Amino acid sequence: MEREKVIVIGSGPAGLTAAMYAARARLEPLLISGNQLGGQISITYEVENYPGFPQGLAGPELVELMQKQAERFGARLIVDEVTQVSLKDGSPFMVKTFSQEYQAEGLVIATGASPNRLGIPGEEALIGRGVSFCATCDGFFFRDKDVVVVGGGDSAMEEGLFLTRFANRVRVIHRRGELRAGETLKRRAMENEKMSFVWDTVLEEIVGNGKVQAVRTRNVKSDTTEELQTDGVFIFIGHFPNTDLFKGQLAMDPMGYLVTDGRAMTSVPGVFAAGEVQDPVYRQVATSVGQGAAAGMMVERWLVDRE
Ligand code: NAP
Repeated sequence: MEREKVIVIGSGPAGLTAAMYAARARLEPLLISGNQLGGQISITYEVENYPGFPQGLAGPELVELMQKQAERFGARLIVDEVTQVSLKDGSPFMVKTFSQEYQAEGLVIATGASPNRLGIPGEEALIGRGVSFCATCDGFFFRDKDVVVVGGGDSAMEEGLFLTRFANRVRVIHRRGELRAGETLKRRAMENEKMSFVWDTVLEEIVGNGKVQAVRTRNVKSDTTEELQTDGVFIFIGHFPNTDLFKGQLAMDPMGYLVTDGRAMTSVPGVFAAGEVQDPVYRQVATSVGQGAAAGMMVERWLVDRE
């Protein structure tokens, strides 16, 4: 079994920043990437609001820069996935991956969040066959096609706007009569002539035989149902934290987000958390980076205080 001073789980902006801080403190942290190197930002077409990049930059480019910076100071990134952790007996913590078992004196959890699903018939079966949770990944396949976007938040608007580069028509289906998205994205979406809005409407079924053909919808005000022909269904209805690994071991709020103490520490001393896994509110690259920096600093301080 390998023994590490610090293990960081997750390679999004929070994990990469925590690793960089721990590396600068000469802890040679081991960063375990998870199944998506770079996390959600790696599938973001453009990041416009990360300070220092006035022209914006592509998500994967930002990941690459952050990774290089962490590695420059001695962080070691491995592409692997954590399958089990044992935290309750205190430090050193057991961290098991698909290929290896480790002990870690200090731990930073930055496992992020994943997209919510609608939980309706047809959704699961048609993932990758017209149902998608990522316009950047799949938008290209919908050139000159009709797609629907589900949701009324910033993600739905941003991804919907991205889809207008490819699709003929992007219909946003939202369960209320008003968008949740902020003013800038709302205005851009409303002004885009390829985008239209279906208000007060929910999806009841995604219909398709091998690929998406239509959605069955219900207007929640008139209680009328309709079948809309479409080639793709892009779903952006929020996220849930990736905390399954820690159930029964770390304190969580009712939505499953890890609870931290204001100094990035979870309910188990020596285990810190950063980014969306413990943040249901801000969910920005800039805030995740700040939280990652805090966790990287606090794990180092905790290790020093313990000695
Ligand atoms: P969000 O703000 O929580 O919006 C989720 C949307 O999905 C809401 O419109 C919600 O409807 C709808 N929804 C939720 N559950 C649903 C269901 N079961 N069926 C149908 N519709 C459902 O999530 P988000 O858009 O992913 O954004 C999350 C955070 O990231 C926000 O703080 C956002 O500002 C931020 N963000 C920022 C940017 C940016 O600044 N460029 C880009 C993306 C995300 P209701 O409105 O009725 O609740």
